[in-house]
Amino acid sequence: MLECIVKNGWLQFLEFIQSRCTKAEFENWLAPIQLRSSTPEEIVLEVPNIFVQEYLLDNYKDLLQEFVPIRANKELALTFVIAPPKKSSAAAPKPIAEPIPESSGYDLKLNPTYRFENFIEGPSNQFVKSAALGVAARPGKTYNPLFIHGGVGLGKTHLLHAIGHSIHEEQKKLKIQAITTEAFINDIVDSLRAKSIDRMKRFYRTLDVLLVDDIQFLQNRLNFEEEFCNTFEILINQNKQIVITSDKPPSQLKLSERMVARMEWGLVAHMGIPDLETRVAIINQKAERKNLNLPSDVAFFIAEHIYHNVRQLEGAINRLCAHARYQGTNLTVETAERILNELVQSAPQKKISVDSILQSVAAAFEIRIHDLKGESRQKEIAFARQIAMYLAKEMIEDSLTKIASSFGGKTHSTLLHAWNKINKQLKENEDLVKQIQMIRRNIEQ
Ligand code: ADP
Ligand code: MG
Repeated sequence: MLECIVKNGWLQFLEFIQSRCTKAEFENWLAPIQLRSSTPEEIVLEVPNIFVQEYLLDNYKDLLQEFVPIRANKELALTFVIAPPKKSSAAAPKPIAEPIPESSGYDLKLNPTYRFENFIEGPSNQFVKSAALGVAARPGKTYNPLFIHGGVGLGKTHLLHAIGHSIHEEQKKLKIQAITTEAFINDIVDSLRAKSIDRMKRFYRTLDVLLVDDIQFLQNRLNFEEEFCNTFEILINQNKQIVITSDKPPSQLKLSERMVARMEWGLVAHMGIPDLETRVAIINQKAERKNLNLPSDVAFFIAEHIYHNVRQLEGAINRLCAHARYQGTNLTVETAERILNELVQSAPQKKISVDSILQSVAAAFEIRIHDLKGESRQKEIAFARQIAMYLAKEMIEDSLTKIASSFGGKTHSTLLHAWNKINKQLKENEDLVKQIQMIRRNIEQ
């Protein structure tokens, strides 16, 4: 039995993974890998190129340990050989990717609803929206690149696509490509396999506008980073517009200095968390588009309870819509409260970290995480810090010393002191009870 597992470890891995990944992933990345030889000591695999090898190890290293022999140094006993050019073209299955379009009649791949008209403006996103409008009005001539960063679900992709729509409508002739970083990497790999890498490079390098979503996925992918950087430079040097989104500012991305410097060439704009009024406006807009009659106290209730993710606001509206449709009753704050509770409970339990607590408390009090971790005795900051410490002790099962040290190196007795103080106040202050409940819900979602 054991021998059998060892002997067919690779094939067993393939069988195991096939039902657990998407067809495209399997066919693009895993199926092209050929088993060269397999012994109880070692498995030799033939890969069409280095990217496929990197992909396999980046994504499945841990899982492979269960299927592949392990060397004395605890590394996988896997050896890779790159397929010789002739043989691989005979052996490689036909790529499933569409041929890369070269004419102007290509599919823009923009989300039809992500337009400037549908983007609600508020203090948190005014600056980035006006930068995006500027770029859309004069591509390549204002900020280049425009780098948009901010948390999940705040509208980065929405603005990126809005730029694409707007340019496309104004200047039909311009060649625009909107792509996620993952898709860019896939494109490279597919083209390498189909021996059309030159064609792909030509395609990217003759674009007028390149919109790249979620550049953080380029981190730790050296070979791809270099290719991206080359394309980037060629386009920028010809004044072709590049817009990039990311969950972090360039300086915090684990990318080469060269790449970071290039991304800081133009304008780096931050997309903040919308304030209460903007959230209410977004909720009303979404409800209207779904023909949902939403009383204003219900809209406020939702906006107060979901703070830092517009996508979650949409989720809540969708639930309310379904409820209104099936129950046919008017929406009240009580119904909304019940539905939001369901939403929180149905979300997969996630492991709560001090960071997520800091983030929610900082958002609730509109202060910086840096201050929460700092030493400031300013009343508001000190109070928010005590609440964060209280929540950390309540919500995280870890040693108090360790939790306290995550607050910028505080001691275990500071944490306990904060907990006692808030715990006492909770007994007599009902508003505080509600406020903490709200923050808790936000951390858990
Ligand atoms: P990100 O790319 O930052 O994770 P998205 O652009 O995917 O976020 O936005 C998530 C959802 O929220 C989208 O459906 C988007 O239309 C909506 N959204 C975000 N910000 C706004 C806004 N200011 N006005 C209207 N809708 C918004
Ligand atoms: Mg996005």
